[in-house]
Formats: sequence, C-alpha cells, structure tokens
Amino acid sequence: MVKIALSPEEKYMKEAIRQARKAEALGEVPIGCVIEYEGKIIGRGYNRRMTDKTTLAHAEIAAIKKACRAMGDWRLEGCTMYVTLEPCPMCAGAIVQARIPKVVIGCMNPKAGCAGSVVDLLHQDGFNHQVETEVGVMGEECSRMLKEFFRELRRKGKKK
Ligand SMILES: [Zn+2]
Repeated sequence: MVKIALSPEEKYMKEAIRQARKAEALGEVPIGCVIEYEGKIIGRGYNRRMTDKTTLAHAEIAAIKKACRAMGDWRLEGCTMYVTLEPCPMCAGAIVQARIPKVVIGCMNPKAGCAGSVVDLLHQDGFNHQVETEVGVMGEECSRMLKEFFRELRRKGKKK
C-alpha cells in the first residue's frame, strides 16, 4: 500500500481543522486557525464567539494574539497563517495590521469573506501591505465540516 505523505501546507491545515473541531465541541461554528513560523506553530485559535460572549473571539484573532506573544512583536513577519475559512473583515484587517505575509485558506466564504469573496482586503494596492494567499488546501474537508455543522443545527432546530 502506498502511503501518501501530506504536504507541509496540508499538515498545518490539518492542525487548523483540529482547532476548528474544538469550536465544534463547544457548539460553536467550526473555524480554526494556526500560525506557523520557521516550521513551528506559534499560535493556535478557534472560534469562541458564543462561549466568550464577544464578537472579537474569532479563530484568527486568538491565533494572532498568541503568535504576537511568542514573537514578542506586533509584526508577524515571516509567518504563515492557515485558516479553515476565508477571513471576515475584522480578521482580514488584523492580518494586514500584523503584516502577515501569507495566508493559506481552506475554503471560501461567499457571504462574508474578505479575501476576495465580498471584498479583497488582502490584496489592496492602496494599503502598505499585501498578503499572498493560497486557497483550497484541504478545501473539501474544511467546507464539509461547516456544511455538516449547519445541517446538524437545522436538524436540532426542527426537533424542538
Ligand atoms: Zn473573523
């Protein structure tokens, strides 16, 4: 049997998915994020919006906070973010503010994404920082995880 090795991108995205599962276990929309620097994960986060009762508890914001602490800097130069879902306006803004050079996205978010779906905050020539993006790494798994979560939510809603 041939064992197919995961690419480094897939390896980190898998860890982001593992973070998203933590959100799911809390009944939160499963979105997860990790930040890698020189081959090491220096920040992890998952959606805790309902649990923490704050709009700001998005996966990317949590991961950025931890990565900044690890780097001892507000700039995250040389870091790559891996996130299961296309970032919202707040998180895309934070990515630009943190000067993160590259973001790898699992699946796109047509209704709220700000890396090209609704607007593209990551590639604005007017800003002093542009972000390289890669879309679709383990995309099917990322999108299936969300679809199943919302399907289950609707099913539970009907039962009540
Ligand atoms: Zn967000």
